[in-house]
Amino acid sequence: MAFDINALRVKPGDKIDLSDIDTRSTPEWDGDDKDEGKAALPVLNERLEALQELLYAEGKQRLLVVIQAMDAGGKDGTVRHVFEGVNPTGVRVASFKRPTDEELAHDYLWRVHSQVPGNGEITIFNRSHYEDVLVVRVAELVPENRWKKRFDHIVNFEEMLADEGTTIIKIFLHISKDEQKERLQDRLDRPEKNWKFEEGDLGPRSQWDDYQKAFEDVLEKTSTDQAPWYVVPADRKWYRNIAVSEIVIQTLESLNMDFPPPEGGLDKIVIPD
Ligand code: ATP
Ligand code: MG
Repeated sequence: MAFDINALRVKPGDKIDLSDIDTRSTPEWDGDDKDEGKAALPVLNERLEALQELLYAEGKQRLLVVIQAMDAGGKDGTVRHVFEGVNPTGVRVASFKRPTDEELAHDYLWRVHSQVPGNGEITIFNRSHYEDVLVVRVAELVPENRWKKRFDHIVNFEEMLADEGTTIIKIFLHISKDEQKERLQDRLDRPEKNWKFEEGDLGPRSQWDDYQKAFEDVLEKTSTDQAPWYVVPADRKWYRNIAVSEIVIQTLESLNMDFPPPEGGLDKIVIPD
């Protein structure tokens, strides 16, 4: 049975209550168990690899994948697993950290616009301009009258990108507060994961409900036909990988790409000994 990505898509006008969406659920997956889920990924990886090569060869279209989540939500792991095997030429990850002084000296979209994909490219945003209505809002880094206007800016910015030829998909990895606790604890317990632990992550954790509310606003106000949000239940990593792969693959398939026509006369060329 086909995996219908529309089941995860936020339609314009939808009301979102994240507490109603079970983070351990596996919508559209009809396999038996985790083992079967894990086995499905390499097949998806191969399909994505072929589509990325086609996108690159055609060189006319571009894909932007935005990924947002709470801390330890699995952004890095998703990128690693979903894009496994894809030719790194033509795929780039842009990670948006706390803004530098230079970035703060400009409008919030300045650093973002310079990272969008060019023709033939896939760019993955690990965090994005959405931080400017998430952490910035909850941590009160700018006054409300400034961040409130940003929903409109963002919708217009993404519309411009889409009108000019960029396909955009936005993915929210939805984990539970308990799952976050386990993953943060794991970062403390395992020496090879210690580097990922940041005491600063405990701040946003203590404001969990405020962040969920901020995410709900983002999903309701900025999911458009041209730049839709998908809410992916993400406590189960194997399901998360399958769902995100399906979203990326089906989006690329909808682009109707073609390999560029070969140069004329190829059939007459003989490669010399
Ligand atoms: P991991 O989940 O593996 O820890 P990460 O995405 O959290 O990876 P970090 O370097 O740990 O990467 O954190 C980036 C930090 O930068 C986050 O706390 C995020 O909220 C913050 N940040 C990103 N953009 C902005 C922004 N525009 N204003 C303020 N803080 C921001
Ligand atoms: Mg972090």
